[in-house]
Amino acid sequence: MSEAPILRDTVRSNGREALQKNIQAALALSEAIRSTLGPKGLDKLLIDDEGRTLVTNDGVTVLETAKVEHPVAKMMINASSTQDRIAKDGTTSTVILAGEMLQNAWQLVLQGIHPSTIARGYRKAEQYVLQCIPEIKLNSNNEINETVVKTSLAGKGYHSMQEVIAKVSLNAVKIVVDENNSVDMSKIKLISQTGGKVEDSKVFKGLMLPKKRISSDMKKEILDGKILLVDGGLEKKNVSTDLKLNVSGVGVLESFRQEERKMLMQQVDKIVEYGVNVLACRESIDDDVKNYLTEKGIQAFRRVARSDLNMLARACDAKLVNSIQTSRVSDLGDLVSSKNINIDGKDFWVVESNGKAATIVAKGSTVDILGEVERCFDDSLGVSVQLIEDGFIVCGGGASYVALARRLRRYAETIPGREQLAIEAYADAIEVIVRVLAENAGIDPISALLDVVAEQTNSDSDQFGINLTTGKPGNMLDLGVLEPQGIVKQALIGATEVAISILRIDDVLWAKQDLEMPVLPEDEM
Ligand code: ADP
Ligand code: MG
Repeated sequence: MSEAPILRDTVRSNGREALQKNIQAALALSEAIRSTLGPKGLDKLLIDDEGRTLVTNDGVTVLETAKVEHPVAKMMINASSTQDRIAKDGTTSTVILAGEMLQNAWQLVLQGIHPSTIARGYRKAEQYVLQCIPEIKLNSNNEINETVVKTSLAGKGYHSMQEVIAKVSLNAVKIVVDENNSVDMSKIKLISQTGGKVEDSKVFKGLMLPKKRISSDMKKEILDGKILLVDGGLEKKNVSTDLKLNVSGVGVLESFRQEERKMLMQQVDKIVEYGVNVLACRESIDDDVKNYLTEKGIQAFRRVARSDLNMLARACDAKLVNSIQTSRVSDLGDLVSSKNINIDGKDFWVVESNGKAATIVAKGSTVDILGEVERCFDDSLGVSVQLIEDGFIVCGGGASYVALARRLRRYAETIPGREQLAIEAYADAIEVIVRVLAENAGIDPISALLDVVAEQTNSDSDQFGINLTTGKPGNMLDLGVLEPQGIVKQALIGATEVAISILRIDDVLWAKQDLEMPVLPEDEM
């Protein structure tokens, strides 16, 4: 039977050819970010099509900024983005691990092993290593937590910047953690400001918005109050745009205006009756309403972004209402205090509530530095959450991967048939982290790995990884190179998932003719 018409304009590659091309694409991608891994990893300068530049060391940022068309390369980028969403850190590692798993799989394919046998072996290997993580994990504590967050920032910024970001992130998470030890990240707000040093970044209890109360005659500080959040405003309609009036006599417009004004004042009376002390509106508040609010002792804010109103609603346990007319007393939120403060000449509104919220004010001297500071906060907050919620860590510097690979090789011996080879290939693949860390520090990668494996075996300890200063194996617990277990776990899960999905593709049907393959030098495969 001839090929279905639907395939007429389609480029098709299948079997081994498809797999080879797909693996090439995946490898091209992991090669591209390999040099950023670890504290000695280098930065990348990214320039987008509008000429904007970005200097970063963050794997997922590099990948998400790159315009990649190849579907397999996109699968790798998705794996990295998923890692970013779930674990916040370990994004570069995930892609490097997946690339290595695929490269080793290709070697097995060349020896005549079927991709689905390899996929089965990889799945077994993954399940076994995940089962082994509890054997190598350690308990964290307050002091160690800071070290762990600093490890996650290795290679990004400089020492004192890492220290401040780690401290601030941990404190922010400690402010919002609830009695069940769970952390709602949406209760942490990050405000960034240019000017000043990164070291001046601070965390504040409560939500802080770059806003000033609408009149300085209003009270500066309200304690123990009730807040109303309105997804609208307190203003007269604009006659030219918002409504149409048939004016039939002199004074009609004036009396309409007066009636409208009266209705606005009645709305103020209504919230006074409710006992509202603080009012925040998404739209504007008219000047005569402002004076009446001031008279009634209400502190008011206008043009508050909806995202901020939602955050306030969560923090104060309030409901965002569409208008004052439809609001009810039960929509009000409680606040411990609502203050207006000034930091370095800028006005802020600080709301403290029992719903716990924290605001980080991040500083950086230039927009570029501030961008990298924000990305650092993103990573370190994610790591801090895992530490506070879970509290288990593993050794970094590749130590945990070597420890898992050692166990995996012993397990492989018990598996008969060709899957054994796949499990061994998986063990070799996860050791790539030590090799790349060494490579980026100018250390011979093969000797580094062999030395670390030998040291772990001889001392029967899972804590030895590569000391990038000496180039020799070092105890990562003593050196303070530690990471949350969740990052390693998720990196292994994500990398295995994408590697297996790519191995399972044996037919590529491409509807366009001008397909572009990321190319890799011949000797890399
Ligand atoms: P990722 O995006 O995967 O988190 P990073 O560039 O942040 O990539 O590098 C993380 C890796 O660097 C981890 O494997 C971590 O253990 C390792 N690492 C961090 N600091 C050190 C250090 N001082 N010595 C050795 N390895 C380190
Ligand atoms: Mg990292």
